[in-house]
Parts: sequence; structure tokens; C-alpha cells
Amino acid sequence: MGLSGKTAIVTGSNSGIGLGVAEELARAGADVVVNSFTDRPEDHALAARIAAQFGVQARYIAADMANGADCRALVERAGGCDILVNNAGIQFVAPVDEFPTEKWDQILAINLSSAFHTSAAALPVMRARGWGRIINIASAHGLTASPFKSAYIAAKHGVVGLSKTIALETAGQGITCNAICPGYVLTPLVEAQIPDQMKVHGMDRETVIREVMLQRQPSRQFATTGQIGGTTVFLCSDAADQITGTTISVDGGWTAL
Ligand code: NAD
Repeated sequence: MGLSGKTAIVTGSNSGIGLGVAEELARAGADVVVNSFTDRPEDHALAARIAAQFGVQARYIAADMANGADCRALVERAGGCDILVNNAGIQFVAPVDEFPTEKWDQILAINLSSAFHTSAAALPVMRARGWGRIINIASAHGLTASPFKSAYIAAKHGVVGLSKTIALETAGQGITCNAICPGYVLTPLVEAQIPDQMKVHGMDRETVIREVMLQRQPSRQFATTGQIGGTTVFLCSDAADQITGTTISVDGGWTAL
């Protein structure tokens, strides 16, 4: 499955799922642009490590996905964009009536609006080449809800809707747009939720993981970042040419319940 000659931009890819996606795309031969909002030596070292490990071009470009102009500049600075993976995302847990407005705005900006801005910048580039893949990392929470995660769930449902709309606007142009909906994947984002969930539910770490976090995941197993990366690579393959405007769940059966 050769993606050599393709340039992939993965937003929010200096850790967690984004890093797993960047690595799997590089393993399939794509040149990758690694991104986050920081600009540290270790961010650039991470891109250099991916380049050396997989024998591809890899660059780190700092851009804040909370800022629309930064999102568009990321695509311009990449100098090409055949594959766009909108992955950057944050979480905050509170009841609606206590949810801080600035957190709502930040989550909507990073988890939803960034995908609008990067896609708007990437589509003309993809149309010019007659081929493109936009893959949005949504969530099982793009299809279902849970209490205390209003901004995240609203944003992820929005990402699913945005994916369908872009699919319709690009149908028949060699471009597809889909959303991957992971269940729980053990990453820093999930790790950071554990103390909040322990507080909200009054449980210890192991109990909150088994009874709360994986309670809706019938496999009772976390998905892996490599599996999300592998699903992304599949969506870039010829086999997925006619898969567009849909969601692929990687959730251990969560949304089958
Ligand atoms: P993570 O915290 O490990 O990674 C988030 C990434 O986004 C990091 O690289 C971070 O630096 C980056 N990021 C955060 N704010 C940014 C900003 N303003 N600009 C640019 N980059 C920014 O989390 P993760 O679990 O790997 O999550 C990645 C995506 O997967 C998110 O969209 C998340 O909602 C989604 N997701 C995660 C899970 C899960 O269980 N981990 C499940 C479903 C969906």
C-alpha cells in the first residue's frame, strides 16, 4: 500500500493518536508534517526520528489549531497536502451549567473549527491534483453522548456533520472525507480525564477505568493509537476510493449497544 509521493498533514501529532497516525502514514511511505502548538527542540526531534525510522520526509510545523489563521497557514507552509488528518483535540469535563465559557469556546475552536479552516485551505490543493483524503478524528462521542462533556460532544457531532458536507462537495473529484470514531484509546488525553472522573464518581483509578471509562466499550479493551493509524492508512488506499461521507467506528462495540 504505497503512499510514497503523498504529503500528509496530521494536526496535533506530537503525542497520542496523532503521533500513531503520523507513524502509520510514514510506515506506508507518506511524507508527514507533524504539528502541535508548541515549538520545542523535542518536537522537531520527533519529526527527525520519524524521518529516520521510516525513510520518508518528516517536518514539524508549529501552529495553534485554536486559531483559524494558524490552521490555514499550516497547510500553506506544508507546501502540499494530499492527506489531511484533523486530529488535534482537547477535553474538559463539567456540567453544562458550570461549564466555563472560555473552555467551551476553546474546545469548539480546536476540536471543530480547526477542521473547517484546514480543510478550506487544503481543498484547492487537492482539487488541483485530482486526489485527496480528509480524515477527521471524531469520536464515539460524535455519535453518542455522555454527561459532563457538552462541548466535546457538540464539537465531535459537528465534525461528523462537517465530514459529510465536505464529502458531498467533493464527490466524484478523487477526494474523500470521512470521520474515524474511536472509543477509548489510552493516550495522554484519556490519562488526564482519569482524576476528574475519579472525583465525579468517587472511585479509585482501576474501578473508574473498568466501570466508567470502558463500561460502554463491550470489549473492555482500549483501542490502540496504531489501530487508529491503520484505519487512516486504509482510508487512504484505493480500496477506500468510494468510502466517503461516513464514519468508521473503532470502539470495541461501543456504538453497537
Ligand atoms: P492527546 O492529548 O494525546 O493529543 C492531542 C494532541 O493535540 C496533542 O498532540 C496536542 O499537542 C495537540 N493539541 C492540543 N491543542 C492543540 C492546539 N491548540 N493546536 C495544535 N495542537 C494541539 O490526545 P489523544 O487522545 O491522542 O486525542 C487525539 C484526538 O483523538 C482528539 O481529537 C480526541 O478528541 C480524539 N479521540 C481520542 C480518544 C481517546 O480515547 N484517546 C477517543 C476518541 C477520540
